[in-house]
Amino acid sequence: MRWLPPSGPGLVVSPHLDDAVFGCGGWLASRPGSVVATVFAGVPDDPSRATDWDRRCGFTSAGEAVAVRLDEDRRALARLGAEPRWLAFTDSQYGQEPTRADVAQALRALLERENPRWLLLPLGLFHSDHRLVHEAAVDAFAGRGDGLDLVFWEDALYRGMPGVLQARLAELLAAGQVGTPLFDAPPNSATLAAKRKAVSAYASQLRAFGQHGVDDVDRPERYWRFAPPEQQP
Ligand SMILES: [Zn+2]
Repeated sequence: MRWLPPSGPGLVVSPHLDDAVFGCGGWLASRPGSVVATVFAGVPDDPSRATDWDRRCGFTSAGEAVAVRLDEDRRALARLGAEPRWLAFTDSQYGQEPTRADVAQALRALLERENPRWLLLPLGLFHSDHRLVHEAAVDAFAGRGDGLDLVFWEDALYRGMPGVLQARLAELLAAGQVGTPLFDAPPNSATLAAKRKAVSAYASQLRAFGQHGVDDVDRPERYWRFAPPEQQP
């Protein structure tokens, strides 16, 4: 068996409103009709609260932040020919972290509704929300036996931090998951331009990350598959 990159439209699971485009905007641009499901896209119980991060993004309340970020996401995905799905869990900055089981259940229901040909999931490199989505997605989707491709994307921005990717791969290997890099077709100029336009739609987040805070999105996207040693191609 050879592992080829999946083609055609599929489903990307994203922790926050920007991660999927930052980490796999090129992949999405070359597979129009795909769906991006963002897990932490909900408004907290107290929409008037204002966190440091939201203030740095130019917002005065969580309610305003989520409303604007949903609009940014909708416009970004349209530039890639993709469609959003928004789950109602709230970003960890709002202090209402869901359980792994709740997120897994919601992802299972999502999969049944969307019935995609492939799934792209975050490696879960750093942020607690990214890690939670990775673990819940593996709970929800692994071992389905329906031949559905599971591919993992390197969480953009975090993957460039010293040791972060290395530690995650070592952790997965210790758990019996052997990683194989998956090489997608090199992006063409139209794909790169579409990704850049999509990234620019997340204006509030770019403001908080600062001038060079998202330089990583211009580096080549990288993907992985994982399987126990006996199931390697
Ligand atoms: Zn994120």
